[in-house]
Amino acid sequence: MILGILNENDQRVAIVPQLIKKFQSLNFEIWVETKAGETANYSDEEYEAANGKVTNKSEILANADVLVSYHPPSDDDLKLLKPKTLVVSMFAPYADDAIIEHLAQFDIIPFSLDMIPRTTIAQSMDVLSSMASVAGYRAVLEAANYLPRYFPMLITAAGSIKPCSVVVLGAGVAGLQAIATAKRLGAVVEASDPRAAAKEEILSLGGKFIEVEGAQDDTGAGGYAVQQSEEYLERQKVHVQERAMKADIIITTAQVRGRKSPILIPASTVEKMRAGSVIIDLAASTGGNCELTEDGKIVKKHGVTIVGDSNLAAKMPTDSSFLFSNNIYNYLKIMVKEGQIDLDWNNEIIAKSCIKPNK
Ligand code: NAD
Repeated sequence: MILGILNENDQRVAIVPQLIKKFQSLNFEIWVETKAGETANYSDEEYEAANGKVTNKSEILANADVLVSYHPPSDDDLKLLKPKTLVVSMFAPYADDAIIEHLAQFDIIPFSLDMIPRTTIAQSMDVLSSMASVAGYRAVLEAANYLPRYFPMLITAAGSIKPCSVVVLGAGVAGLQAIATAKRLGAVVEASDPRAAAKEEILSLGGKFIEVEGAQDDTGAGGYAVQQSEEYLERQKVHVQERAMKADIIITTAQVRGRKSPILIPASTVEKMRAGSVIIDLAASTGGNCELTEDGKIVKKHGVTIVGDSNLAAKMPTDSSFLFSNNIYNYLKIMVKEGQIDLDWNNEIIAKSCIKPNK
């Protein structure tokens, strides 16, 4: 069976050479488009040395049994695939389900990695968690880069430096990694998240929990947050503003799946922040948690640097590609039996992540 990888408009590559041997154990040959791994520091020579085939895009599309990518392939590419090719990508149907109908016109079997259930058994396939974890770590380093101050407390002959104060809004996978990273650098960290489990998770990493009363019950939401009431969000903004005035860095990751992200930092809060402070908004692509965020841009407003970037995992392409490849291996493993694709529709992971109607 042939597993095809294209050279995407992204720093990352879907399969790294180190993993080829594992895919071969599932009976996959890896065909990779020329220079697909270059920006992630995996050369064509490394793919060839690991028994991958480096070739052109049209040959991959014409022969692949499975095509794996970060971004959904274009319609022109989908048209060139063989009938019944498995296309594994991040189609995000929860944000716009029109994609399901759109894909139904092609004779392919689409699987959306972002629909894999967030269960313990599926953890090793969870690309959302892998990428969010990289993004949370990188968010702290980005912030440190713009901050005109130290992170740790320092006592020197030339005077004492206070530890930097970091506020994290949204303590899911990215937020928790940001808390851990900022703590390691010596910051004092406070965080807010309405999920019932969040308080304990924040405290266990050495963060302080920002208590906001009246969060909606998220039992049964599959680990995701549910939409909060206007009253809760208003109360939360007051707590956030109090902290923002003293903060050096705010990292925001607050998202409610399938909805616009809540505004937690209105422009009036940014005005009250200290000059030189930094906001990293990982929710930028879904509207942003800060009113002044511009998606894909770094702007300076009222002396505050605001970085709007929801794709920070792509800025660490070597490791994020490695983690993504492992997730894909673990995912495809459940679809292969005795060296052939054999889809078990009773398997919850396969059934829920396949987005073909009437499968
Ligand atoms: P996400 O990216 O959808 O959202 C990020 C965070 O924003 C969430 O923690 C959410 O609660 C928070 N948020 C929403 N509204 C907010 C508000 N008004 N203020 C502050 N925060 C707000 O979430 P995610 O990181 O992909 O995952 C969320 C949770 O899912 C995880 O923390 C975990 O509990 C669960 N999960 C479970 C597994 C597993 O068991 N395999 C894997 C991954 C995630």
